[in-house]
Amino acid sequence: MAPVTFSFEFFPPKTAAGERVLWQAIRRVEPFAPDFVSVTYGAGGSSRERTVDVTRRIAAETTLRPVAHLTAVGHSVAELRRVIGQYADAGIRDVLVLRGDPPGDPSAPWVPHPEGLSHAHELVSLVRTLGDFRIGVAAFPERHPRSTDWDSDIRHFVAKCRAGADYAITQMFFDVSDYVRLRDRVVAAGCDIPIIPEIMPATDVRQLTRFAELSGAAFPDELARRLDAARDDPAEGHRIGVQHATAMAERLLAEGAPGLHYITLNKSTAALDIHRNVLGTRRAPRALTNRCPQVVG
Ligand code: FAD
Repeated sequence: MAPVTFSFEFFPPKTAAGERVLWQAIRRVEPFAPDFVSVTYGAGGSSRERTVDVTRRIAAETTLRPVAHLTAVGHSVAELRRVIGQYADAGIRDVLVLRGDPPGDPSAPWVPHPEGLSHAHELVSLVRTLGDFRIGVAAFPERHPRSTDWDSDIRHFVAKCRAGADYAITQMFFDVSDYVRLRDRVVAAGCDIPIIPEIMPATDVRQLTRFAELSGAAFPDELARRLDAARDDPAEGHRIGVQHATAMAERLLAEGAPGLHYITLNKSTAALDIHRNVLGTRRAPRALTNRCPQVVG
């Protein structure tokens, strides 16, 4: 049985009530001893401070290993250095490095900060120079929505690897063959960092349709139909979503996926139900220390 990692993703809440819900979810996840939990980085302003605060609290007050997301969008290099310094001061050694999307409309033209960075591989290089961080990057099983072809998409992914990424986490997706194709293309390009698939519990058709639109992920018609029929029955939606994600997670592990990264939306119930289904008590942590070998070509 191949050793795999398990991890959960949270976002920084906007309100005190949201904060309570987040911490209930974090405390429910904690006894499962995941390999890490990650906290997303907001599009701007105070939500970014909240990412720093939440990751700091996770590091200080729980047994969990926090991974702080960080995006280049809207930041000068000096500001990026400051945020990375805040993470380091809080004892955080894991950063998921992303370029980010334009705030408001993610599909709007990308305009870099005049004193900032244009692509994630530059931010990977910057973080590498600032300390001994374990660095994750994003991967896209259906290709990044802005990429016009697979060759450039893979080349740019490999550039993140060469810049010093230790592992990747994928965008949400609903077809296992998309993950396998991406992984094989990346390996063929000479990079073998672990690519951890993101598991999105699809329990609510309205929410999923919106996320699929934002991420560009293709949402399977059959699943959409079943969830639509259950749109006024949350328990049935939960059952359908957990069943679908469980089957997908099992297939991914059978295909050799190095881990599973569950989106929680700060409600850990569905993610934990999938986790229990897939693995029960079977888990064997694996350190995410594989470095991409020097890529040939
Ligand atoms: P990049 O790797 O820079 O790629 C962006 C595009 O530019 C791609 O099309 C790529 O092919 C192209 N490209 C890269 N390098 C070059 C180059 N040298 N020349 C020309 N083109 C190039 N967003 C948030 O705001 N906060 C979060 O917390 C967050 N968490 C995420 C977590 C995961 C697991 C994933 C998959 C995404 C997350 N995102 C988050 C969304 C992410 O920021 C967007 O998807 C963004 O559009 C892509 O970021 P990237 O790091 O892949 O960018």
